Amino acid sequence: MTAFAANLTQGVYIVTILLVIVGIMRLRTPATARSGNLLAAFGMLLALGVTLLYVPLVNWLVMTAMLVLGAGIGTWAARTVKMTAMPQMVALFNGMGGGAAALVALGEALRILLQGAAPPLAVSIPGAFTVLIGAISFAGSMVAFAKLQELIGGRPITFSGQKILHAVLFALLLVAAALAVSGGPLGRETPLIILAVGAAVLGTLVVLPVGGADMPVIISLLNSLTGLAAAATGFVLGNDVLIVAGSLVGASGTILTQLMSRAMNRPISNVLFGAFSSVKQGTDQTVGGEVRATSTEEVATLLAYASRVVIVPGYGLAVARAQQQVRDLMVALEGRGVDVRFGIHPVAGRMPGHMNVLLAEADVPYDRLYEMDAINPEFSRTDVVLVVGANDVTNPAARNNPGSPIYGMPVLEVDRAKVVVVLKRSMAPGFAGIDNPLFLMDQTRMLFGDARTSLTELVTALRDVD
Ligand code: NDP
Repeated sequence: MTAFAANLTQGVYIVTILLVIVGIMRLRTPATARSGNLLAAFGMLLALGVTLLYVPLVNWLVMTAMLVLGAGIGTWAARTVKMTAMPQMVALFNGMGGGAAALVALGEALRILLQGAAPPLAVSIPGAFTVLIGAISFAGSMVAFAKLQELIGGRPITFSGQKILHAVLFALLLVAAALAVSGGPLGRETPLIILAVGAAVLGTLVVLPVGGADMPVIISLLNSLTGLAAAATGFVLGNDVLIVAGSLVGASGTILTQLMSRAMNRPISNVLFGAFSSVKQGTDQTVGGEVRATSTEEVATLLAYASRVVIVPGYGLAVARAQQQVRDLMVALEGRGVDVRFGIHPVAGRMPGHMNVLLAEADVPYDRLYEMDAINPEFSRTDVVLVVGANDVTNPAARNNPGSPIYGMPVLEVDRAKVVVVLKRSMAPGFAGIDNPLFLMDQTRMLFGDARTSLTELVTALRDVD
């Protein structure tokens, strides 16, 4: 590479780094998020372009074919994916990132070794780290994808001696990593390949026992691991963009993991070692057992005469694509002078910020959205809570049934309101696969049906209430 080409490449990389940082800063509010995303993607395109121009490539034809194929699949997937399948897609893309980082590091190390040289420590240490972390992230994300896509059950898969097996495997992987760096009787290639395969097995084993309500935390943890793997690949290749972009993903993923585990009141060690999942679900003797189905007209009357209504959206809102209808209901009620608020649980839906994204899409003003800690003290002063396709995030067993698998997870305390109306299609459980005693409580009414249809009918019925 000429000095000019090297300077140009470095210059473009710095522009990319700035664009990625500004892009991430703009992701903080929905108003600027779209342009932030575009800025960061444009930055990456610049870096890719300049790298392809100046890095000596083995085969232009193969490279171009791969670019067209990758961009084509990515564009098609992003355009056709349903909003409800977005979390799986994020898991899949995240896994691809981890896998790519591991393969690049493995390829670079093997390339140097096949030339008969030993990679310097500055390459072999981050190389072994990338193979370890990248392969764990790849395999773990694939299991998370399979769980979210319901290819395998979402329930925890556990067996006795699981924790010991994980610990022993991790210790063996550290030995393989040390041998891959230092060399030994097996050479460096064999330990490297053992490291890659073993890390993929560990990634699979670690995510299999994670189930129910713990998935958001593990997904965000895998995301931060992919960031770290990409940053370490940057050290292997001496590429500044990878170091900075990977560190940003690693740092933001780590912060998100902490926020998520705090929101679930679950130390990350408990999530990883599945302590929660092993607790058997007990029956809550304090709750009676009658389901009270209601009608649109009855709910419309309840809402029309309420002073304060809190709407609690959940995953079912996304399935029903009912965000616009929920906004119409808000507007209709506010037109009658009702104080309407939305209570947002941090893990409602299937991805961080899922409900905020949906409601922003329907132009629900941001000041109507209340986080869990802000809305919980308000429920006792609320006339009607409308639970729209939410289940786990409202489950009172998390507060009062120590036998419940979600005991200890902070939830929206909707049962403290005078009346609770639940919009869902059946008595089926939510993501955690457990019963919700809320549905059987005296103050609860079940409005069965698709949330979009129920909300549309409610808005119409409201017009007929004097
Ligand atoms: P849940 O998964 O607990 O419940 C959703 C409910 O929506 C179901 O009980 C279902 O009942 C109902 N529903 C589905 N489709 C419709 C429809 N068309 N109309 C009306 N209702 C419908 O959702 P929550 O939001 O309460 O909780 C989220 C769960 O997902 C938590 O356990 C969380 O840990 C987990 N999770 C969250 C992630 C995140 O980052 N936010 C990531 C991964 C998992 P029915 O079938 O009877 O209609």
